[in-house]
Amino acid sequence: MAVTEPAPAAVSAAQTAAHEGAHEGILRRQSARESSARTYARALPIVPVRARGLTIEGADGQRYLDCLSGAGTLALGHNHPVVLEAIRKVLDSGAPLHVLDLATPVKDAFTTELFRTLPRGLADRARIQFCGPAGTDAVEAALKLVRTATGRDGMLAFTGAYHGMTAGALEVSGGASDVRVARLPYPQDYRCPFGIGGADGAELAARWTESLLDDTKSGVPQPAGMILEPVQGEGGVIPAPDDWLRRMRAITVARSIPLIVDEVQTGVGRTGAFWAVEHSGVVPDVMVLSKAIGGSLPLAVVIYRDDLDVWPPGAHAGTFRGNQLAMAAGTATLAYVRENRLAERAGVLGARMLTQLRSLAAEHPCIGDVRGRGLMIGVELVDPAADEPGPAVADRPGPAVADRPEPSGSAGHLALDRSRRPLPPAPELASAVQRECLRRGLIVELGGRHSSVVRLLPPLTITDEQAAAILDRLADAISAAARPHHG
Ligand code: PMP
Repeated sequence: MAVTEPAPAAVSAAQTAAHEGAHEGILRRQSARESSARTYARALPIVPVRARGLTIEGADGQRYLDCLSGAGTLALGHNHPVVLEAIRKVLDSGAPLHVLDLATPVKDAFTTELFRTLPRGLADRARIQFCGPAGTDAVEAALKLVRTATGRDGMLAFTGAYHGMTAGALEVSGGASDVRVARLPYPQDYRCPFGIGGADGAELAARWTESLLDDTKSGVPQPAGMILEPVQGEGGVIPAPDDWLRRMRAITVARSIPLIVDEVQTGVGRTGAFWAVEHSGVVPDVMVLSKAIGGSLPLAVVIYRDDLDVWPPGAHAGTFRGNQLAMAAGTATLAYVRENRLAERAGVLGARMLTQLRSLAAEHPCIGDVRGRGLMIGVELVDPAADEPGPAVADRPGPAVADRPEPSGSAGHLALDRSRRPLPPAPELASAVQRECLRRGLIVELGGRHSSVVRLLPPLTITDEQAAAILDRLADAISAAARPHHG
């Protein structure tokens, strides 16, 4: 199942010197010419020249285990043989590479394979809109779709959300503030806004959502839709509890609000199910898909139930909606993940890695939390030397949750766990861990509200040995980075 990594090439001292020269020159020219808005390139000063599976080789001859995977795009790792073969087949066939949104056999095969994977309940009545090549464009399309179908304007979105960088996607992301978007609490254990975490914290988050919608003076008009990620990725790897997701589905169904699930990052087996909504059994009205569906090339689509399909021709157009190479690479990837049950593999391996990371957390007070689902894993770094953690919500003036009368409803008594107070985030330590990882040949991403969460998004094809190597290097990097912080 796992791809064989290339054998290290024999390199002479002269070649090494030449490599290093090329590597430094390219990096120097990049920093002189490219925008100050560049991102990954700042924290990862490497020059990839070859890659296969989990491994990237730099122009300096160094090899790295790539747990960034194109920001979660590479379900099969770099240059998987089935992906390369699919791309070559299109190139050799003489098929046109640019066809706008016209029908082609390549597109037909992609849509057939994609529809085959969709959650039951949506698959039978699904429509697909091919969008411009980025996830953010598919988010824009989804927002436009539900606004047109409902004739309403407002959106419900969540704290910590990330949906992209274009105007509409930014509006529904956590960093924005806009009157058209009502912001709702996304449940989380470690930094629970209600100070209790767990099922009770999620229950309070759901009740807040319900009360905003049902209170005629809440200031939130009946919205056109609700958009959420089943696991917040950029927000710091925060998996939504299945019960909470089912509550969101019930709340939106009862009020005729279309539910848009953004599976741009969670899709194609990443979380241990082919689509992350399958964990809860929730069937959304709209799904936004990108990243892994293009098998490492740019592709984004919106999938939605046919009764929402009332927008007019040209409602969401774009020149680059027919990338034949991406569709072929995507078909091969979707089929490979399905046939080799890679979602299941991601679930099993991810659970094991989480257990190992939790043991590591027991040795390192600077690890505040370890969380994730499948092979979407986050390690939150905190400052254990901080005097006293900030007061938990219920410790502030006013009655603590536990002192209030028992609420009616399924959650029963909501007890406050005062031991669960989070320590302050440690973004500088997280950066140091990322640097130490790179020195040890491991590429990791940082994320979360304070950029203090080390993120692992390895390919779903990694072997047990590769998983162990990743964790060894990470553990070593954390020890090295934490040392100066402990004096
Ligand atoms: N939605 C989610 C959940 C994402 O993680 C991302 C990208 N990280 C996007 C949307 C935006 O995708 P893109 O960067 O391709 O526009």
